[in-house]
Amino acid sequence: TPKRLVTPDKRDDDVDASLRPQKLAEFVGQEKARANLSVFIEAAKARGEALDHVLFVGPPGLGKTTLAQIVAREMGVNFRSTSGPVIAKAGDLAALLTNLEPRDVLFIDEIHRLNPHVEEILYPAMEDFQLDLIIGEGPAARSVKIDLAPFTLVGATTRAGLLTNPLRDRFGIPIRLNFYTEAELELIVARGARVLGLPMTPEGANEIAKRSRGTPRIAGRLLRRVRDFAHVDGDKAVDRAIADKALSALEVDASGLDAMDRRYLKMIAENYAGGPVGIETIAAALSEPRDAIEDIIEPYLIQKGFIQRTPRGRLLTGAAFKHLGLNEPKRDPS
Ligand code: ADP
Repeated sequence: TPKRLVTPDKRDDDVDASLRPQKLAEFVGQEKARANLSVFIEAAKARGEALDHVLFVGPPGLGKTTLAQIVAREMGVNFRSTSGPVIAKAGDLAALLTNLEPRDVLFIDEIHRLNPHVEEILYPAMEDFQLDLIIGEGPAARSVKIDLAPFTLVGATTRAGLLTNPLRDRFGIPIRLNFYTEAELELIVARGARVLGLPMTPEGANEIAKRSRGTPRIAGRLLRRVRDFAHVDGDKAVDRAIADKALSALEVDASGLDAMDRRYLKMIAENYAGGPVGIETIAAALSEPRDAIEDIIEPYLIQKGFIQRTPRGRLLTGAAFKHLGLNEPKRDPS
């Protein structure tokens, strides 16, 4: 099945690279993350040392990869990139690590998905810049230690709780990324429009920002779709009406919800009188994997105040009923 237009995950038709900010100063939002990184980068540069290992934690599409690239650029070092599920064997990781130059950045996306054997190689590498490898098999096997160049591991994950404790503990700089505000997304959309050479009014940028689910990747994607509509409409500057027409045609509603979100909310409203409903029940009713619901659908609905996570399950709020145009049933307030 094709991915949803508003999925925060990367889709094949995303062209993330062209809108990517290159410097910390160009990066919009995430004030605290930027301030911290900037201090640590300056200090490491002044000492001529590798930056301490950095862990970015946050939902997809908020700029973890972008920040990792910016870290390398600001440090003036090479950027090497891979992801947890791609590193199949310890030897694959060893090859990556032994090829690093001093102070280089190695970015591992989805680092919580590393195979445990590979992860074990990473501990001494991160701590002492050493590889402990077993060469050969059976009685002929011997262990060798290889010195590595001091490097910076930048890991990215959606939830810190997905990492094992020993791995999490080895990151000196843990950084949480949060959903962006409407104003921040507006800046990102306006900048993107300039990069694409697309004339746009501030109201047009605001309309796209409002529907981007707090996520720059989605903002970039909606911007491209709106551009296609604007072309067909005769290349006028994109104003609120054009943006609204385009996004409504794409079934992204005024709050940035798509058909999948509305199906989720309607199901709880209509079949369970607003809940609480357990996550397993929801997953079964929607025929969606539980992980996808928890990582992709719910974070934005929670942030919009449409659902609450309670010990007894998910609960629809009054705002959700209102958004669906339904009457809120009388509920036991326990
Ligand atoms: P993640 O690694 O968290 O999934 P990415 O770093 O790949 O996210 O970012 C996804 C897209 O959003 C990229 O096109 C990137 O340029 C854009 N983006 C992310 N954060 C920002 C930001 N703060 N300002 C402008 N664009 C951003």
